[in-house]
Amino acid sequence: MSETGRVTFVSGSGHLDRASHLRDRSGELLLDRRAMLLPFHRDKVLIDHLAKAPRLAWQAPPKGSFESSEHPVFLGMNQGIPSFATDIEFLDRKLAPEQVSGQVEFVDLRSVAGALDPVDASIAATAKSLLAWHSTHPFCARCGAPTRIENGGWRRACRACGGTHFPRTDPVVIMLIVRADQVLLGRQSSWPPGIYSLLAGFMEPGETIEDAVRRETREESGIEVSRVGYIGCQPWPYPSNLMLGCVGLAESRDITVDTDELENAVWIGRSTMQTILDGGHPYIAAPRRDAIARAILTDWVRGRVPMP
Ligand SMILES: [Zn+2]
Repeated sequence: MSETGRVTFVSGSGHLDRASHLRDRSGELLLDRRAMLLPFHRDKVLIDHLAKAPRLAWQAPPKGSFESSEHPVFLGMNQGIPSFATDIEFLDRKLAPEQVSGQVEFVDLRSVAGALDPVDASIAATAKSLLAWHSTHPFCARCGAPTRIENGGWRRACRACGGTHFPRTDPVVIMLIVRADQVLLGRQSSWPPGIYSLLAGFMEPGETIEDAVRRETREESGIEVSRVGYIGCQPWPYPSNLMLGCVGLAESRDITVDTDELENAVWIGRSTMQTILDGGHPYIAAPRRDAIARAILTDWVRGRVPMP
């Protein structure tokens, strides 16, 4: 369990103080001489490659005032320092990509998240999800009028109808389905060749976590699941999912793959799973190292996942 507990690293295991009580004062905090800004550019985050391991490349905020529509979002207090993020597209000419300092580069967070320390990964995940939400929600979902950023970027408000809108998080169940000493793995055709992982799917309105695990498993593989337990979670900011790791007991064995969802699904024995995780299987590869699926599978082969 401890291994799985640690996998929440793209997540809330860091120590950023979100300081929600300060969000209404974020304009003032941005002028604090210690304030730091984490720039994004077209969905990529600025990374400093100078150190041995990659780190977030914080910058001093550009001088001058910001329009409401371009105001950086207030992430919170990072070791007492007011910390913000913005997409430099919003900054117009105030901070061009070539103006940022250090040995830095805008990179896809997916490519670097696994190498960041837990606090940096947590901050980057928060910023990326929040900025993605702003970029896709410029208008009111109730009346269609433009909305403006409030509360340090944690709310958008519509002056036309008075509606308020909040950043979304989409829960996804991801499940270790087990039967005796075997685990059910699936593969989507869009994944890199050979990769197999745990089955997963979006929760639907009105569903419990347990119901979603049973429904998604039945739909994707035809396998019936009885008891379901919760293991741990991982925010997955692509763009704003929360992966809810679960374990379910299979009541049937015959697989019927839903080819709209999966390319294939297979039962894998525990020792074969260890070989896959070690990278020694000729055809099947394990999920990426920073994914909760890999942590759950690693715990399972070591006998550390309690059965429900
Ligand atoms: Zn409105």
